Amino acid sequence: MRLFDTHAHLDLPRFGGAEEQRSAAIRAQDAEIAAILIPGMEPRSWPRTVAAANALGAETPSVRFHTAFGVHPHALGDLSQNNDQDLESRLLDALEAGPPSLVAIGECGLDFRRQPGIAAHERQVAVFEAHLRATRRTGLPLLIHCVRAHGVMVERLLAEPSPPALLHAFSGSAEIASRLCGAGHFISFAGSITLPGARRPLRSAAAVPSSQLLIETDSPDQTPFGRRPARNEPAFLIDVAAALASARGVTTEEIAAQTTANACRALGVTLPEADPR
Ligand SMILES: [Zn+2]
Repeated sequence: MRLFDTHAHLDLPRFGGAEEQRSAAIRAQDAEIAAILIPGMEPRSWPRTVAAANALGAETPSVRFHTAFGVHPHALGDLSQNNDQDLESRLLDALEAGPPSLVAIGECGLDFRRQPGIAAHERQVAVFEAHLRATRRTGLPLLIHCVRAHGVMVERLLAEPSPPALLHAFSGSAEIASRLCGAGHFISFAGSITLPGARRPLRSAAAVPSSQLLIETDSPDQTPFGRRPARNEPAFLIDVAAALASARGVTTEEIAAQTTANACRALGVTLPEADPR
């Protein structure tokens, strides 16, 4: 089996230090994780994201570590709005100079929950639009975070043709999932589908064509139900695959093969041939 974790923040300080990252990478390798995508959070932390991918890739050669550059909506609270105008050029410059691990733009998006520190909706939309222009200009796929903002997100994303977007930890309805898939985008499911009584994510999962289905852990958040209270990590991705398999009436192996192939296609990456064990 080969699994592709399309969203894991292994480089966040709250995931753990270098030693903790290293042991999680080894457990991921043992858990048949073939690839992990580490999304970027904001310009100052992009070098950290790349450094983590390089260090972990050297440590566990059978796991491919990929990166993306973007500005997470949660990061805006700590960034001066005066610099928002420059974010787009900083992003384009960083993409241009892209390290070999770079495969996508993101994480970016919209989060309209009422929470302290969350930036104003208009500001979030403006920064999201900068990412949309960057994906259309470069052709790189886009990693989207969307919480309670699906109407606005879908309207902006579908306004013009775009390279594939990966809707991370999808929490929208089955109808929105169908519309996004109809436009060629990909839907990624995380630990919420492992919760007892999870109905909405399972309905959405049933609405996604098998060719557009992805899985992720969203480490260190969203620990699958059966692993709580542990901090989440890529080795737990098998739980998400198993929950999706039972929801769709297929085997976990089929979900693994399909979602890994989909992630490679969405991100334009190839993995080495599976070793025949
Ligand atoms: Zn994320």
